[in-house]
Amino acid sequence: MATVFGIYQSRFLRMLVAIAIICATALAAGAAHQAIIYQRNLAQLDEMSRQLLRSSELAIDYALISLGDLLAQSNDPCSADGLELIQQAVFARGSIKDIEAIGDGGVLLCSGMSGRTGGLVDQNYMATYHPALNTSVMLQATSAQPTGIFKVAWKLSDAFSLVALLNVDTLMFDVFPADLREQSGAELVLGSIDVVAAHVPEAGGSSQDLRVFSTMSDRFPISATLLVPSSKLFSWNADSWPVAIVLGALLGCLLAFLTLKAMNRPMDPTRELRDAIRNKELQPYFQPIFSLRTGETVGCEVLTRWLRADGSMVSPDRFIPLAEASGLIVPLTDHIVAASLTRLAVVLSSRPDFKIAFNVTPAHFMANDFLDTLCSAVDAAKVERSHIVIELTERQALVDAQEAAAQCRRAQELGFRVSLDDTGSGHNGLSQVQELPLDIIKIDKKFVDLVCTDRAAITIIEMLVRLAKALGASTVAEGVETIEQYHALRDCGVDEGQGYLVSPALPADRFIAFVDQPVAAQLAA
Ligand code: C2E
Ligand code: CA
Ligand code: CA
Repeated sequence: MATVFGIYQSRFLRMLVAIAIICATALAAGAAHQAIIYQRNLAQLDEMSRQLLRSSELAIDYALISLGDLLAQSNDPCSADGLELIQQAVFARGSIKDIEAIGDGGVLLCSGMSGRTGGLVDQNYMATYHPALNTSVMLQATSAQPTGIFKVAWKLSDAFSLVALLNVDTLMFDVFPADLREQSGAELVLGSIDVVAAHVPEAGGSSQDLRVFSTMSDRFPISATLLVPSSKLFSWNADSWPVAIVLGALLGCLLAFLTLKAMNRPMDPTRELRDAIRNKELQPYFQPIFSLRTGETVGCEVLTRWLRADGSMVSPDRFIPLAEASGLIVPLTDHIVAASLTRLAVVLSSRPDFKIAFNVTPAHFMANDFLDTLCSAVDAAKVERSHIVIELTERQALVDAQEAAAQCRRAQELGFRVSLDDTGSGHNGLSQVQELPLDIIKIDKKFVDLVCTDRAAITIIEMLVRLAKALGASTVAEGVETIEQYHALRDCGVDEGQGYLVSPALPADRFIAFVDQPVAAQLAA
């Protein structure tokens, strides 16, 4: 159940990862697209304000050329010939509305189009003119309101100037493309105050947060200013935004595919196990061992469980062989011993005769530092060594029987007990019982399974019990599942039992709660 849940959980996790990658990439592509559009729009609007200024400068240049042409062709612009030339110039250049001749003190000498001659004094003469780089050229607004018309004056002497009235209103028509025209404004300003031409945004446009793009002429006292709503900087030219999102999502699909492929790649199982040991995903579980005479819980066997982060549990048959083959069984055992002693400290300190059995593979048992390490761990946990049972598993053979016997004696001298696991199966044959100085013989489950039905199984069990008694060892029957087996084993003289009849292996808290329950005692009654 936990595994199925784990699979669904991990599928759900993978789906979440894929969706997150696709969404993140699509959003990143959208954001990158917006940033690019924003920068491009800034540059384009700067260029548009420069373009408006260039067109204005060009109009001024043409006005001055027209004034130069007039002077070249007539000594007296106010003569009949001169006035005719002025009219020709006005017709020829659509942007020039009129040409005037101004005399000493601002007196209007003549005006080509109105036909006026003499008498009028330009009160603002000189005072409101803005001088250009070439100081004989000056510009002047014609009104306080932007009319689209301003004066370009060429001062030929203190007493004589020619003035062209220049219409730049047409320049304002096509400043903006259709998308920006309604909400954006544009101005041509003389000096820094006189707005001479303007494109006014439609109602509502000016109330928005406006971004200003301004360019000043370095030849004439004129500047061009554009006022564009800030929001337009993101939305203008952004038609390709959906395309960017779709392309981003497609890229996200590719990234998600590659990520999931990398996630699916089977992890190196040894590395996975090493990480699990380091991350404390391996946990000790405790299976009660009970007296077949009194039913009292007299000890436990520590059985390791791999509790994965996804909530699934892996049984030892799936990782102990790998741990043995890779050498990880050493750090695994060290971790399980330390964790078990810590968790069962309460039970161990209150019950002097309680035995806690650890499964130890023969190769590890024979390692030079095994007993030293075990002593350090047990002493560090302040646990009496007499509590500890070293249970030699049957998966590997004890290569050198004499050396193994010597190691068993060393363990016993240090205060530990030694037990032979699964006696009668695998490498733990009957010869091992005779060769090793054992404290406990564990009778394999396969004999227990047949104890009620098979005479030969009973004979073997009785023989193991006699042998154990002769060697001064006790017997534990494994895998006791029925009350009949319980009674039959007790009748055979077996001392202790372990099995699902009483309890499977339990996590520490449940085991501690179990220890004082009279479950097995009730069976014994
Ligand atoms: P084992 O040492 O022979 O442990 C007894 C196994 O039989 C355990 O399986 C236990 O849960 C199971 N068992 C107990 N009572 C019954 C029962 O009444 N009926 C049945 N059908 N099974 C019962 P588990 O926990 O899956 O362990 C399997 C093996 O993995 C163990 O066999 C032991 O050899 C090994 N193992 C477990 N933990 C460790 C460890 O920390 N170190 C080493 N070296 N080996 C371990
Ligand atoms: Ca065992
Ligand atoms: Ca066993």
